[in-house]
Amino acid sequence: MSEIIVSVKSLEKTYKTEGESLTILKDLNLEIEKGKKVTIVGESGSGKSTFLNIIGSLDKATSGEIICGNFNLSRLEEASLSKYRTHFLGLIFQFHYLLKDFTALENTFLPALMAGLPKKAAMEKARNLLCDVGLENRLNHLPGKLSGGERQRVAVARSLINDPQLILADEPTGNLDPQNAKMIGELLFSMAEKYGKTLLLVTHDTNLAKKGDICYSIENGMLKPVTL
Ligand code: ADP
Ligand code: MG
Repeated sequence: MSEIIVSVKSLEKTYKTEGESLTILKDLNLEIEKGKKVTIVGESGSGKSTFLNIIGSLDKATSGEIICGNFNLSRLEEASLSKYRTHFLGLIFQFHYLLKDFTALENTFLPALMAGLPKKAAMEKARNLLCDVGLENRLNHLPGKLSGGERQRVAVARSLINDPQLILADEPTGNLDPQNAKMIGELLFSMAEKYGKTLLLVTHDTNLAKKGDICYSIENGMLKPVTL
């Protein structure tokens, strides 16, 4: 039997602001098998980022049960939360969030240093990943000297540096021109395939979403399987 790596049951997220309460996600259920690439499409404001941020432990659910690997997100202590973020997850966002004073190589290996890997090993790993994403000639470039597509390639390499179980991608191509968007989409899926990673990607772009093994749309706070 295949291993379930993400299990979400009856997730609800309600924002409360000044007496008003707004339910963005309600009775959302999802199971992801290890190694699958799952995509979620939805209109702007439908709750895609809210959902991904909850899985990424950057935000908390109002109610429901979320289990990722051995981590029960509703009951995590600070120490396990940090372990979850550092070792279990790889994150890719619309904006690359590279540190501007650090080279492509440094940006890629820093998370490995923080995870406790010796510098030499971290650098070697980062170099290999950057070669994998086609940046072997840009290792010592600062982000400001890279194109938008190249910066996002670094973000893809960086997301893999700690050998995560799950890659979360929120509109990873949202800030790119159509040609680069297509390239980064293909790169992301092929890297996930190559390294056998589970991928959960949210986007408003159906062309990107249809690369998933399984696609959902998010409507009225719930997930619905779709064929794109
Ligand atoms: P998407 O990523 O699908 O575009 P989001 O998850 O960012 O959508 O937002 C979903 C809805 O939740 C939006 O209507 C947004 O205004 C609302 N929202 C997001 N964050 C907050 C917050 N911190 N407080 C109140 N409402 C929020
Ligand atoms: Mg969003």
